[in-house]
Amino acid sequence: MPNIELLQPTSIEEAVSLLSQHGNDCKMIAGGTAVVIMLRNHLIAPSVLLSLGRLTSLSYIRHEPGVGLRIGALTAIREAELSALVRAKNPTLAHTFGEVANVRVRNAATVGGNLSEADYASDPPCVLVAMQARVKARSVRGDREFPVAQLIRDFYETALEPDEILTELIVPDPTPSTRSAYLKYVSRSSEDRPCVGVASVLEMGADGVCNELRVVVGAVAQTPQEIQSAEALGKGQRLTDKTIEEIAAGYASEIDPISDMRGSEWYRKQVIRVLVRRAMQQALSS
Ligand SMILES: Cc1cc2nc3c(=O)[nH]c(=O)nc-3n(C[C@H](O)[C@H](O)[C@H](O)COP(=O)(O)OP(=O)(O)OC[C@H]3O[C@@H](n4cnc5c(N)ncnc54)[C@H](O)[C@@H]3O)c2cc1C
Repeated sequence: MPNIELLQPTSIEEAVSLLSQHGNDCKMIAGGTAVVIMLRNHLIAPSVLLSLGRLTSLSYIRHEPGVGLRIGALTAIREAELSALVRAKNPTLAHTFGEVANVRVRNAATVGGNLSEADYASDPPCVLVAMQARVKARSVRGDREFPVAQLIRDFYETALEPDEILTELIVPDPTPSTRSAYLKYVSRSSEDRPCVGVASVLEMGADGVCNELRVVVGAVAQTPQEIQSAEALGKGQRLTDKTIEEIAAGYASEIDPISDMRGSEWYRKQVIRVLVRRAMQQALSS
């Protein structure tokens, strides 16, 4: 590897100041599970690496009534998976973190690194979009907060400015009538990235009618896919097997999946149809 200057700020203020000085020559590194692979394969060649590893103040999991879970960007995915607070407040979220890679990767990889990498074949983004989660970012200009749905823009491209650090993930609490599920389908080893992932979040009325419906499909295109015309088929309706099948068919026909080593476009369409149906059924029975 070429000589790379390593910067290790100990405060967020120092980190954003260093980022503003070094700009595009600088690459941030958190858990390093993605960055090290990119460096080894010569996909990136930064002159400066800015390690976030000493920003211990960004590693936390809190709950704020009326807001939801606040998870610091430097929190290890494994910690979020095992957190009693996350499991109690949002079991589907804890389950999703547990679906990422394997224990070794989850111990090093951070919640913020997973989102900032913006790899299309990731598990958490589609769940976080379905849950209407938000992120906070910090730069020398201050903080800004925006939906996860706006964070991922394209393959490996986020809405973060080059001098911004993602600092926090905010996940609203499910209501008592929320039913949710995340299903991941892998076509290679059990620890692989998803071929298709589907998050289903349903708001069910006491009368058995679905008041709100968010189904988001991940790992099939550059950004998580939500098909509103298909969701509309379920809103204000009882979710019978027929309705669910129609919604699943809507997702399969409207999404234009990529072909890659995990599955062809045709194959993914079949999986989307099955997985949307199963994720909705699982959410309903949760
Ligand atoms: C073998 C293997 C299997 C995997 N399987 C899965 C899987 O099944 N599902 C899945 O979802 N993911 C999977 N991943 C991806 C893994 O989740 C990511 O590599 C990891 O989450 C990235 O986190 P990190 O902290 O290591 O980030 P790093 O590698 O340190 O950084 C990743 C990117 O994010 C940027 N970055 C990091 N933190 C911040 C921040 N706070 N603010 C702004 N930018 C930041 C870095 O500059 C870099 O561009 C797998 C990875 C490996 C190596």
